[in-house]
Amino acid sequence: MAGGWARDGAVQEQIDASIEDELKRMQARRLPGGESRTHCAECEEPIPEARRQALPGVKLCIDCQQERDRRPEQRAGINRRGSKDSQLK
Ligand SMILES: [Zn+2]
Repeated sequence: MAGGWARDGAVQEQIDASIEDELKRMQARRLPGGESRTHCAECEEPIPEARRQALPGVKLCIDCQQERDRRPEQRAGINRRGSKDSQLK
């Protein structure tokens, strides 16, 4: 119980909030141009058409993009979602 996840929980809630939030963040920081991939560059999973249209030049599926966005230590708390909904506004 020395992981300190409680303190980092708020950050994790924001990261897990929703795919839509993730898309907004990615659009906000602008991906490099180029063609969207039909399949993830890392895991070869098909990338949904809606995601490809929303994110020109997208290279990763949602799962891989989120993994890339997260720091490894943050991922440890992935299953804590939903436990602190009251902190979401
Ligand atoms: Zn992937």
